[in-house]
Amino acid sequence: MIFILISLLISILPLSVSGQTGTRAQKAPDDITKWTNKTIMWVGPHQDDESGCLGTLSLLKANGNKIVMVWYTTGNKGSRDLDMTSERLAQIRKIESEKACGEMGITPATDTFICLGYDDGMLEYVPEKELCEKVCRLIRQYRPDAVFTMDPGTTWMKWLKTDHRMSAFITLDGARAAAYHLYFPNHRINEGLHPFTVTDYFFYSTGESNCEVDVTSVSDKKIRAHAWYVSQFGAGNFKYVGPEPDQENIKKQLSSNAERIAKGEKIYERFRRLSESMSF
Ligand SMILES: [Zn+2]
Repeated sequence: MIFILISLLISILPLSVSGQTGTRAQKAPDDITKWTNKTIMWVGPHQDDESGCLGTLSLLKANGNKIVMVWYTTGNKGSRDLDMTSERLAQIRKIESEKACGEMGITPATDTFICLGYDDGMLEYVPEKELCEKVCRLIRQYRPDAVFTMDPGTTWMKWLKTDHRMSAFITLDGARAAAYHLYFPNHRINEGLHPFTVTDYFFYSTGESNCEVDVTSVSDKKIRAHAWYVSQFGAGNFKYVGPEPDQENIKKQLSSNAERIAKGEKIYERFRRLSESMSF
């Protein structure tokens, strides 16, 4: 009798301790660079924020995975050029981003590019429920095997600029809501979109990385890609001189990259990978 009681106690212990689903068996995360035929979603606020993980996305694309790129804003504010207008900047940023992604083999023609159209710098002033629903719908629609986004942090915190703060948190909020049919039930009833649980997150711009991806093989492409953000960095932010990137600067960077690689250095992109559901 005592034996039976003890067995019963052991069998229910994990549930009672956690109050949720019990102890989860930890398995070693698989190597994402070996993935094929999966859907990968990147979500971020601005047309250059993708640059933090374009190497990894490029490797995934080359392996036959489908890439879905989602920008919250049009990037229409971040210029110091007094002759620039918001409308023109939005057009420039869209093209720059497409060119950069194009260098890495990711294009609107072969992949999915979505811009939610919000004003740059104003994401924290948009009703959060509205943003949450938009992300939730996209997750249910595209059902990504992995989501790449900026790290909202766990123990680690840093100051993130306004849109980055909102993007980091609301992307997870939206992904979590997507797992439960009672959040935004209109998606299922009116649009036929069923709940979906994301189980693999790659957070970048992180202070808690636990995963690195060797992007040495595409590091030259990354340099060429980054050069397309003419209106974002250097002199082009003060006086737009694009759309063509600075070829001399590209040459210099390629040569220094070649020296690093010749010395045996590897180029990495680093992430905090969370390989479990956020549906709690
Ligand atoms: Zn940004």
